[in-house]
Order: sequence, then structure tokens, then C-alpha cells
Amino acid sequence: MTAHPSRVLVLNSGSSSVKYQLLDMADSSRLAVGLVERIGEETSRLVHTPLQGDGAGKREKNAPIADHAAALKAVAEELSADGLGLDSPELAAIGHRVVHGGLRFTAPTVVTDEVLAEIERLVPVAPLHNPANITGIRTAQALRPDLPQVAVFDTAFHTTMPEHAARYAIDVETADAHRIRRYGFHGTSHAYVSRATAALLGKAPEDVNVIVLHLGNGASASAVRGGRCVDTSMGLTPLEGLVMGTRSGDIDPAVTFHLQRVAGMSTDEIDVLLNKKSGLVGLCGDNDMREIRRRIDEGDERARLAFDVYVHRLRKYIGAYYAVLGRVDAVAFTAGVGENAAPVREAAIAGLEELGLAVDSGLNAVRSDEPRLISPEYARVAVAVVPTDEELEIANQTFALVAAGPGEDAVGGLA
Ligand code: AMP
Repeated sequence: MTAHPSRVLVLNSGSSSVKYQLLDMADSSRLAVGLVERIGEETSRLVHTPLQGDGAGKREKNAPIADHAAALKAVAEELSADGLGLDSPELAAIGHRVVHGGLRFTAPTVVTDEVLAEIERLVPVAPLHNPANITGIRTAQALRPDLPQVAVFDTAFHTTMPEHAARYAIDVETADAHRIRRYGFHGTSHAYVSRATAALLGKAPEDVNVIVLHLGNGASASAVRGGRCVDTSMGLTPLEGLVMGTRSGDIDPAVTFHLQRVAGMSTDEIDVLLNKKSGLVGLCGDNDMREIRRRIDEGDERARLAFDVYVHRLRKYIGAYYAVLGRVDAVAFTAGVGENAAPVREAAIAGLEELGLAVDSGLNAVRSDEPRLISPEYARVAVAVVPTDEELEIANQTFALVAAGPGEDAVGGLA
């Protein structure tokens, strides 16, 4: 039997880091995972973990890595050492996480020069992320020019949002001229978790309405009706919505005018304030929920305030998306905080019995990597903890597109 290439390399390229996973889609198994960080600095570090065969065991290298090309070359060498080289005929494609796909990209897309140019055109709305993603794609192309490179967009899942959810209530001409609208992010996670939640309930995604709460260092909520996103909390950029580790989430835009006029801050300073020095860090100096809980246990008032502001915003979004959906079958918690912080889950759902929502404290306290229900039997709405797996979702989408063969055009309509 001739084996078809079934391996997919998933690359998540940030401005100074590359995270990667090599998966075999024949059985969705992971062959290797790793990370290169502090690219361009003296203190670059590569951590590579082969997950199958004799080579199992973490390897770490600390040596300067000048740029993304050097990083990917170093990754390729590590993979080769495990017999998983990128020159292998078993490699079917490379899947890239691309943060902003605007309105144009509603599905995973095979990268062409024209697609790359469009991702570049979106840099003004994703100045931190899209340039790094483009560099990752170009570097991978240079390494394996014959291989399909597939872009999987964080925004794609949210392109089904109705116009009334995606529009800001500002002058339409100004908004359209500058492509200002709500795009949403973390789409790969929201897509994966909403489907996995339906599976947990033993139902088809088309038959369930889910509120997904992706609570990591970045955090976002989405309302998913029958498998399609109808609203999400992040907007033009990943700053809007929930309180996050270092980002403010929702804020009166007039705060920024005030900071300019009264505090004399520049646009860049305000950008840094809201994106890097706000959220949990701004409120209490810590962005790790474990540390915040520890401080609360010691009676720390600021940590308590940070937790309460975080949970209050979360509850507002649960209520809002309940109203958006009308009927809710499940609320799913995911990502670092959502999967691990039982007190956040308990506080977010407390007192919502009238909405059919409740958490069983025994089930909520159980630690597990598996999708699981934490609501009591009697509750009308399921409350679930569903670990996200963005890499698997990117690999699945990439492989599905490549396996569909040439001629498949996954590109959506032009914005
Ligand atoms: P992520 O961005 O999904 O990797 O989530 C990272 C965040 O998850 C960290 O900043 C922590 O706040 C949170 N986190 C991770 N593990 C735990 C834990 N065991 N308990 C509470 N929060 C956690």
C-alpha cells in the first residue's frame, strides 16, 4: 500500500519566537513539539521535544539565533536528528497561524504570492502579529518551496458574525475607508472548543448553541449558534472585551482622549498602557491567576479587586451572549485560566440558577486534561471545561485543505 504524505508541521511565528509542532494526521498524533524564543538576541533558546521513538526526551540549546530563517533551520536540524526531517516525503504541508485575515479570508488558504500580499495589506490592523506571520511563511517557503504552505487565520471563524455584531456604531464611510470593524481573534480555539463541546454533549455542532470562554493570558468570549460564530468579544484588535492578563478589555474610548489631553501621554504610550500594563497586571501587579489566588488567600486587597473586576466582566459577557443566543446549551471554559482556575469558573457561574446555569463544586475541583462537564445533573445548561488545542485544529484544517487537492479554492469573497 502506498502511504500518502500525512505529516503536517504547524508554525506559530511571533515577533521574536517560533512555536512548532509536527503531527501525523493519519492518527492525529504528535511527533515533536518545540519552541524557539528570543530570536535576534544573544540569549536565544531552542527547546525541542520529540514525542515518539527512541529519541524521546527534551533537548535545549542556548545559543544566539539571528533571525527567523536561522530559527527554522535550527528546528529543521532538530527534527532531522529524530529522523523527522523537513525534507521527508511524508511531509504533506506546513500550516501557519496567521492572526489577521480581515474579511477576505474566511477559511484556511493555500499561500500564493497574491495571498501573501493580502496578508501584508492587513499589517496596519495587526501591526504586531501579521509581519511575524509573513516572515514565518517566507522562511518556510524558502526551506521547502515545493510544499503547500497553508495560512490558518485567527479571524476566520468570526467572519460569520452578522453585520449588526461586527459593526461599530461610527460613521460608516470612515469605518469602511479604514477597514474599522470587529474582526475577533482566537478563532481557531473558539472553533475547536465549540465543536468539542458539542461532541461532549453527544450532539452535532449544528444542533447546539455554545458560549465559549477562552481565558488565557489573552481572553475572549464567543457566542456560537449551530457551529457558527454570531458574536465575539475582541474587535478591530485583540484589545476589546474581557479583562486579560495585561490588556484592559472594554474601556470608554474617551479615556484615551483624557490621557492625551490631561495626562499628556502620547498615542504610543497609551497603546503600551492599555495592551501591556492593564488588565490583571494593571489592577494588582500580577497577571498569573495562580499568584493572584495565592495573594487573595493571604488577604491581599488589590489581588481581590483584580479577581473581582475580572469575574464581573466575564459574567457580563455570559449574560450578554445568553441574550444574543436566546437558547444556550453549554458554556465552555478553555485556555490556561479557563482550564485550570476552578475559583474563576465557580465565581463566573455563581447565582445564575435562574438561567439554568450551575457548577457542581466537586466536579469543578477535579483536575483533568480531558473535556468534562462541571454542572450538576439537574442543570438545564451544561457547563464544561474543554481543553483547547489550536495546533491540532490548524493541522486538521491544513491537512483537510491539502488532501482536498488542487482546484479547491477556500478563499472567501473580497472585502
Ligand atoms: P494561556 O495563554 O492559555 O497559556 O494561559 C496562561 C495563563 O493561564 C497564565 O497567565 C495563568 O494566569 C493561567 N494559568 C495557568 N495555569 C494555571 C493554574 N493551574 N491555575 C490558575 N491559572 C493558571
